[in-house]
Amino acid sequence: MFNEKVIIEQGEKYDSFYLYDEKIVLENIKNLKENFFNINFLYSMKANHHPEILKTIFKEKIGADAASSNEVLNAYENKLNKEEIFYSAPGKSDKDIEIAFNKCIFIADSINEIKKLNTVCKKKNKKIKIGVRINPNFTFYSSDGVPSKFGVDEEIFFEKFDEIKSLENIKITGIHVHSSSQELKTEILKNYYENMFILTKKIQDKLKIKLEFINLGSGIGIPFSLEDKIFDVKQLGKELNSLCNKFKKDLEGTNIYVETGRYLCGNSGVYVTKVMDTKISRGKKIIILKNTFNGFIRPSLVEFVKSYSENPKMNEPLFTKKDAFQYIVLTEEKETEIVDLYGNLCTSTDVIGKNLNLPKIKIGDLIIVTNAGCYASVLSPKKFSSQIPPIEIYVKKDNTIIY
Ligand SMILES: *Cc1c(COP(=O)(O)O)cnc(C)c1O
Repeated sequence: MFNEKVIIEQGEKYDSFYLYDEKIVLENIKNLKENFFNINFLYSMKANHHPEILKTIFKEKIGADAASSNEVLNAYENKLNKEEIFYSAPGKSDKDIEIAFNKCIFIADSINEIKKLNTVCKKKNKKIKIGVRINPNFTFYSSDGVPSKFGVDEEIFFEKFDEIKSLENIKITGIHVHSSSQELKTEILKNYYENMFILTKKIQDKLKIKLEFINLGSGIGIPFSLEDKIFDVKQLGKELNSLCNKFKKDLEGTNIYVETGRYLCGNSGVYVTKVMDTKISRGKKIIILKNTFNGFIRPSLVEFVKSYSENPKMNEPLFTKKDAFQYIVLTEEKETEIVDLYGNLCTSTDVIGKNLNLPKIKIGDLIIVTNAGCYASVLSPKKFSSQIPPIEIYVKKDNTIIY
């Protein structure tokens, strides 16, 4: 599945590089389109926002699942209409909303965010349609819900709906659920889709609204290890089609979206790295390659996780020890409570602490993370999902500030 001739040619010029193959991306798109009927697709841009990958995908009438305001902007600049760009991410800032305004359909991630969007629209004297990300009362693997950093719990959505409905500058016209990634069994996704349609019916019947769109999220996996089977897209397409027929009455006039990041581009790329040196050390052959951890971090993480256990070994400089960082809340608040600290990236791995006992935290509080002077900024994947990145500020001894 890789273009050996081009790799050898480029290898003469470069010691390490990514190579993406458009033919494979197009094949993947064709596979999806041929097997799903009346389904719209969204590309999850955070999987790979290389300009050519985006061009190829968007030219095929696939919309954007944007995980940051910069991704919204990027999709918009790629000539997608605002109706084709869905901005779903937790923790959108005022600046994010300002950047994305009028360029996308916002998917609110919490009750606070629904209200925040309403306030912004009020100021602008605009009325917009929005979607809401729901944390449903089911997962891929269970008929019970779980606590999540993403979305509004289904129960809370029903409970608060009257209050939300009274907000004058927004109208909820769609829902979004993205539960898990990298599933290889069609059966699991089929059950999940069925649960999604039941949820849709429940929302429409109970709340007396018509959903103009439901975004089913992603889940379609790709083979990573050699034992992984190729996902049966044809089978899933059939299952989804028959579910659409079964729920036809409820889905009349509703656009259905399926998201995918990895399925479109995962197998289209290879990372190529050249051997820089070899040596024998105490009988063991050592190979030195160009740009691995800093060029393509995930293979290094495999070795990292393998050595992880209840008593993890040091893996400097990525992992020092379990209690290497402290979190200090800048607040007058004396009362404490148990919380989880997550980041705003669209991945559950963006979490820095669970079950921490901290002073009660409110929106706008500052949280200080210690030990950030070494192996901190330089080790962090700031390109991931095109977030507005943190800046680095230097205070000189005379207190002048250097940006
Ligand atoms: C990251 C993300 C995806 C992409 O998932 P894949 O498993 O790569 O297809 C889809 N939807 C949302 C909301 C995401 O955050």
